[in-house]
Formats: sequence, structure tokens, C-alpha cells
Amino acid sequence: MKALVKSKPEIGIWMEDVPMPEIGINDVLVKVQRTAICGTDIHIYNWDDWAQKTIPVPLVVGHEFVGEIVDIGSNVIDFHKGQIVSGEGHIVCGRCRNCMAGNRHYCNHTSGIGVNRTGAFAEYIALPMSNVWVHNDSIDKDIAAIFDPFGNATHTALQWDLLGEDVLITGAGPIGSMAAAICKHAGARNIVITDVNPYRLDLASKLGATRVVNAAKENLSDVQKELNMKEGFDVGLEMSGNPQALNDMIANMNHGGKISMLGIPSEQTQIDWNKVVFNMLTIKGIYGREMYDTWYKMSMMIETGLDLNPIITHRLPYTDFQQGFDAMLSGESGKVILDWEN
Ligand code: NAD
Ligand code: ZN
Repeated sequence: MKALVKSKPEIGIWMEDVPMPEIGINDVLVKVQRTAICGTDIHIYNWDDWAQKTIPVPLVVGHEFVGEIVDIGSNVIDFHKGQIVSGEGHIVCGRCRNCMAGNRHYCNHTSGIGVNRTGAFAEYIALPMSNVWVHNDSIDKDIAAIFDPFGNATHTALQWDLLGEDVLITGAGPIGSMAAAICKHAGARNIVITDVNPYRLDLASKLGATRVVNAAKENLSDVQKELNMKEGFDVGLEMSGNPQALNDMIANMNHGGKISMLGIPSEQTQIDWNKVVFNMLTIKGIYGREMYDTWYKMSMMIETGLDLNPIITHRLPYTDFQQGFDAMLSGESGKVILDWEN
């Protein structure tokens, strides 16, 4: 079968013929229909420090996908052929203290699809049944393909009460922009989003941000005055990984404000701890998605009218993968979908 493989320790990714995956008794075999390119795949493509330390070469990469179950292992009774599914990309151990307590998203031994083990940019993927999410029949396939990053946005945003609250999102990448849509759906009042890339700010405004802010040109205290906000943001969603953005956020929170941090800091970051202490802020780190509360909430938000379509800016046949990676590399894209059936 065809697959996109990180086959050499250098910049790039290559389409190769690889053996069909074999399934164990607890696995399902999925025929991949659509995939989406994640920022993580771009780190792998660029072969940066993180990728060099993390990725075993050769590796079939990719973890954002939707497909159809075409075979099941002999132990599998909850799933059947023909179901349209995505996979939770974090394979957990099931045996550590957190897993045993039912907190699988806190697993101490998480292994990532397309990062630590064979990924989804392929015609088929084998998946443990514990990682299968079955979609509602009505789901749009392109939206189903982005449940993984939609899940990051959901898990980060829904940490806190949003109804009537003033929310600051730093970073209008695909995940920050989807978070704006979720906050809108959940009834937030002001949804202010920052970025330094005008294309991305435009994208966020299409998804529900009520005020976009170019952080290179405007400052948040002026924006607060303009919006008649007297006391700062109630909720902060850090989705840029940029140290300055985090510091701006901390400086603009209401007393008692809540921050969830998804963005992976690009470097060691100093913050003003006095502001954290005297403004009584809560800062919570977020990794992945909750298994499977986040997936349930995503399905329900789509069912109740959340529209993520504007986030998908490119749809390409999988053979044009290079064009898709180039679009992501340019910064002028939202989500890029590769179609594995055409
Ligand atoms: P992305 O890189 O596409 O988006 C980040 C955005 O931040 C970009 O649009 C960039 O222009 C913007 N930015 C840069 N400097 C800024 C500044 N000073 N102020 C405001 N914005 C600024 O990433 P993404 O795919 O949307 O993911 C968002 C973040 O979440 C990334 O840091 C990513 O690595 C991280 N992530 C974390 C997890 C997790 O489980 N913790 C999962 C997925 C992604
Ligand atoms: Zn575990």
C-alpha cells in the first residue's frame, strides 16, 4: 500500500510502498479516507530538534484521519465493518495508576500514532479498539478528519465556564481559530484572538472571533478599553507557544482568571510570577484530549450546529501531498485535507 514515510533523517517526506498493517486480536483495520496535516507533521517534515530526538526513522507519519473499518480482530465485539471512525492518537498503557483510575488522558506512558508508532498517512491503519471513535452517520468526512486538533481546541476551551465570559485566545492557528468557534458556540461574550499573521487573523474572524488583534501592531489594554472591559479577561487560552503572547495574556487577565495552556513554548519562558500570585491566576497545562469526554462533546457540538468548515482551506488528492505540506509551511493555510480515495 501507499504511505507517506519519514524515511530519511533530513527535511522532507516521501511517498513509498509499505507492507499492509497486520491486526492483532484487539485491533481494527481502517481503510483511510481523508487525513489532515498537523503542525506536528510539519515539525517532522522540517526535521527540527524535537523531531530528531523523537521520531524513529523510517516511520509512516500522520495522526489526523477518518476512514472505514474493513476488518476486526477476533476479540472485537463493539465495532463492525463499514463503520466510519477516527482514532484517538494517544495510545495509553491501561495499567498505570492514572489509567487504572479511569484518567487515561493522564497516562504516564502515552505513545503517539505517527510520532512513536506507525501513523495514518497511508491507505490503511491498524488501531487498538480502545482508540476507536465511531462518528455519527451525518458527519462530514473533512470535519471528521480533523477531530484530533478539534479535540485539542475543545479540551483546552472547555476547561472553564465560558457562558458570558470574556475570553482571550493567543495564536490564531488552526487550533486557536477552532477554539474561537467553540467559545462562540458555548456562549462567551467577547472572544478576542491575537496573532501576528494577518491571514490567520482573517481565518479566526470567519470562525467566530469577535475582535482580532495583530499583536505586532496593537496592544491588549487598548483593546480592553475599546470593548469597555474594565477588569481583564476571565478566561485565557494560550495557543501560540510564543513566550511574549503568554506574558501579554498574564498581564491582561481579570483577578481570579483561568488560563489553559496548549501552545508548546518554543523556548524557556520567563513569566511575571507576581502577577500570577497577586492576581490569583490559575494556569493549567493541556495535552491531547480527554478519553472520551472530549470526543463526545465534539460530536454534540457538531450536531448542535457548530460550523468548522471555514477552517478547511485546502483539499487535495493524497498524491499532491507536497502541495499540502507547502501550504502548511507558508503559514497561509488553515487545515489541509488529503483525500486518500481520489
Ligand atoms: P500553529 O503554529 O499553526 O499556530 C500558532 C499561531 O501562533 C500561528 O498562527 C502564529 O502566527 C501565532 N503566533 C506566533 N507568535 C505570536 C504572538 N506573539 N502572539 C500571538 N500569536 C502568535 O499551531 P496550531 O496547530 O494551531 O497549534 C497551536 C499550538 O498548540 C502550537 O504551539 C502547537 O505546538 C500546540 N499543540 C499542543 C498540543 C498539546 O497536546 N499540548 C497539541 C497540538 C498542538
Ligand atoms: Zn497509563
